[in-house]
Amino acid sequence: MSKINKIAVFTSGGDAPGMNACIRAVVRTSLYLGYDVAGIKQGYQGMIDDNIEDMNRHSVSNIMQLGGTILKTARCLAFKTPEGMQQAYDNLKKRGIDALVAIGGDGTFTGAERFSATYDIPVVCIPGTIDNDLFGSDYTLGFDTATNTVIEAIDKIRDTAESHDRLFFIEVMGRDAGCIALRAGIASGAEAIMLPEKDTAISDLIDMLEKGAAIKKSSSIVIVAEGDKNGGAFGVAKKVKETFDFYDTKVTILGHLQRGGSPSSFDRILGSRMGYAAVKALINGDYRKMVGLRGNEIVLTDLKEALNEHEFKLEDDLMEMATVLA
Ligand code: ADP
Repeated sequence: MSKINKIAVFTSGGDAPGMNACIRAVVRTSLYLGYDVAGIKQGYQGMIDDNIEDMNRHSVSNIMQLGGTILKTARCLAFKTPEGMQQAYDNLKKRGIDALVAIGGDGTFTGAERFSATYDIPVVCIPGTIDNDLFGSDYTLGFDTATNTVIEAIDKIRDTAESHDRLFFIEVMGRDAGCIALRAGIASGAEAIMLPEKDTAISDLIDMLEKGAAIKKSSSIVIVAEGDKNGGAFGVAKKVKETFDFYDTKVTILGHLQRGGSPSSFDRILGSRMGYAAVKALINGDYRKMVGLRGNEIVLTDLKEALNEHEFKLEDDLMEMATVLA
């Protein structure tokens, strides 16, 4: 690989709060170190459509506090084809772009790895997804903000649940990973948490709720990750209602509000650290890596390893504690 002159940054896959702080860090670090920098709009789609703009310090002024991504994001099937990749490469070459920082999830990483291997172009990836389900980082960008958003919503629902002695089933994002459900459940004092990683039998859930009723709990909140095997919050509520028909049962699906909002201080700082580290990695010749946070250290993991090991494990001790404290 030849010397780098111009770095481009893009966001791809699902958006997540903190991506803007990260874009800002990539742009400012690149400029500070004497590299040109460009922003690619709408991820791989923008690479194919040549939707690319040169960036300067001011392109990223006043964006730190914004949710979403100023570069926009997209899912792009064409990038999975050799013709799409070739078109993307030709556009980068035409613009003198010779290194990439990709912010996204494992789909984005897979595309980046293939592209880098095919065209010998330096790429460093940054984990941006609210699901916190990537190998190689204790935290992904956006997870902390999304969890805070969920907690705020549950606190509000608790007020009405308490006033009416209601049983609420609240569905949160997480098709394959229950990270948001587990953390938000602990932080909001939920009576039970249903996770995709753990099969909770409806009879066990009913036992838990009956114990709550026996000690005269006036409201109960059950957090259900969307990937729970019982059919999400509606599925769980229907099954529980068959036993608890005296309870006033309600279902709330939090949905996309979990994706938005101003990033927390944690995500702003994490995005800044990861963007800064990604540019440093490119300059040091650390290609095809993913930037991650382990403990409080920024670390690089081989992209291939991050993709192969994508089996993310929820912490057993947190699951156990959640049951004890409920
Ligand atoms: P995420 O990055 O959040 O996991 P996706 O799975 O939608 O989101 O992936 C984002 C984009 O990455 C896809 O729309 C596609 O353009 C690209 N991508 C995903 N898988 C591949 C692949 N096998 N080859 C090339 N590009 C891919």
